[in-house]
Amino acid sequence: MLQELENLRVLQKIDNQIFDIENFLAVVPGNILKLQEEFDTKNQKFEELSTLLVQTKEEKLKSEKEYEEKKKLLTNAQKKLSTVKNNKEYEAVLKELDTLKKEINTLEYKVLELSDNLENLTKQTEDLKGELAKIEEELNKLKQEKNEADKDKIEQLTKLKEERQIAASNIKRQYLSKYETIRKVRNNLAIVRVEQETCTGCYMKIPPQLYVEVKKNTSIQQCPNCQRFLYFLEESE
Ligand SMILES: [Zn+2]
Repeated sequence: MLQELENLRVLQKIDNQIFDIENFLAVVPGNILKLQEEFDTKNQKFEELSTLLVQTKEEKLKSEKEYEEKKKLLTNAQKKLSTVKNNKEYEAVLKELDTLKKEINTLEYKVLELSDNLENLTKQTEDLKGELAKIEEELNKLKQEKNEADKDKIEQLTKLKEERQIAASNIKRQYLSKYETIRKVRNNLAIVRVEQETCTGCYMKIPPQLYVEVKKNTSIQQCPNCQRFLYFLEESE
């Protein structure tokens, strides 16, 4: 095979490896994405519940304070009952007592209800907190694994780029620049094998006269359809 063709093939082989590694590095694994999504959803829920929890606590405190105040008022009203001077005053105090008792009763229910809510919310937030911690741990593990895998790939990439520089320097400038142009527009593939009179880059049949030339592997030929460089190997090779 013509040395120039051989050199182009070597360069293509390196470029294929570089292409694969760069794609690998660019992709965030699906399991990380999925887990991150789950974490974000649960974390949002956690924050909503935490806000609700704070609000409920404040409301409970406020209701308890109000309850205590009403109780004090009730005690005072009850004391007043023994000092009333006439029926009218008596009626008024009784009415006051009645209102206060109703209010206290309502507040009691409210505080109980808020306590229940608080208990539920606390349990829910604690459960979520546990789930989030687990997901985070798993995420960190996966990210670390990805980083470890990337580390090897980055090393390989550095080595390949050095190899590429040498391989490229072995190719005549005119072919190298053509190679680069084709590679850019043809999905990284600039030199391909011809099989059964067909370009394996674009899968178009090549003209018989060109096929005869390509089969010799003694000159640089391009596919008339996709412009890729062509070479020939026997079936078994
Ligand atoms: Zn082609």
